Amino acid sequence: MRILTLIAGLFLTLPVFAMNLQVVTRKNLRFSNPNLQITARASETFEIDSSAPEYEALVKESALKVIALLPEQYQTGNLTINIESSGTFIDPTGFEENIPLSVLLSVEMPEVNQIRICNHELKTDLISTRSLVSHEVGHVIISRLWDASGKIEHGDWAWKKSIYEGVADYIAATATNQTSGGTNWWDRDVLRYKSFEEANKQTLLATVEAVKAAYAKDGLLKFRSYQNLISSLEAELSELPTPPADSNAIGSWLAGQLWLLNQEYGKDKVLSAVFKIALTGDKKSDPQAFVEEVRNLLTR
Ligand SMILES: [Zn+2]
Repeated sequence: MRILTLIAGLFLTLPVFAMNLQVVTRKNLRFSNPNLQITARASETFEIDSSAPEYEALVKESALKVIALLPEQYQTGNLTINIESSGTFIDPTGFEENIPLSVLLSVEMPEVNQIRICNHELKTDLISTRSLVSHEVGHVIISRLWDASGKIEHGDWAWKKSIYEGVADYIAATATNQTSGGTNWWDRDVLRYKSFEEANKQTLLATVEAVKAAYAKDGLLKFRSYQNLISSLEAELSELPTPPADSNAIGSWLAGQLWLLNQEYGKDKVLSAVFKIALTGDKKSDPQAFVEEVRNLLTR
């Protein structure tokens, strides 16, 4: 009886707030979409693959480490991480092709509380996997703070892409205690750009060309779906009067600035400053002003 009471007491002391996290590996995936890269799919079917429990455990452990950075009261709701390495893509003309799913197609989908980890290039690269999962879950924890602000509709973004991407890179670096996930084309290094100007010079078109070269090398460019994706991006970007900067590069610079603040003030203080800004739900569009705002909160 006493033991039973003790156990009951133990359950009562468990935290009330907990994110309901699920990691699912998909197989025999078929999906249709107007364009390979569009996030929300027009339709999809799949089966659950239970053959990779170790990989799922690594993904789960990486995700939990990031979730743990968030104050407990914000660790709420559901999160499903879907792992996909290949699938049959059906385009609007009805053409279908079984393709490996590139890391480029990985995405966080706040509106449905899901993350898609496409891991064709990563399979055995555990360091990159950890870094990518931490980046995507980094987006999730910021989204939960925006939700809590009451000002941002669930699934909407309060920050411009460069800030949103940079903060996720910073969270990934902080959670994994590494400035870089590796030296492959998909890995980000938060200390890569020495200045904002240097990062701002990296155009999106140059990034697309780098991905194209990597795809040519590892065979992905053999697939019509990837050829179409790259050529439509090239066409779209070269039509613009001024070539847009790659917001991921600016994001890496921002992440590096926050990482350097970690060294100066300790990660707990920097994270809590970033979280404080997210909790206001205020719109942010200037990456340099964002870094200044974090710095001001730390020196106040
Ligand atoms: Zn991202």
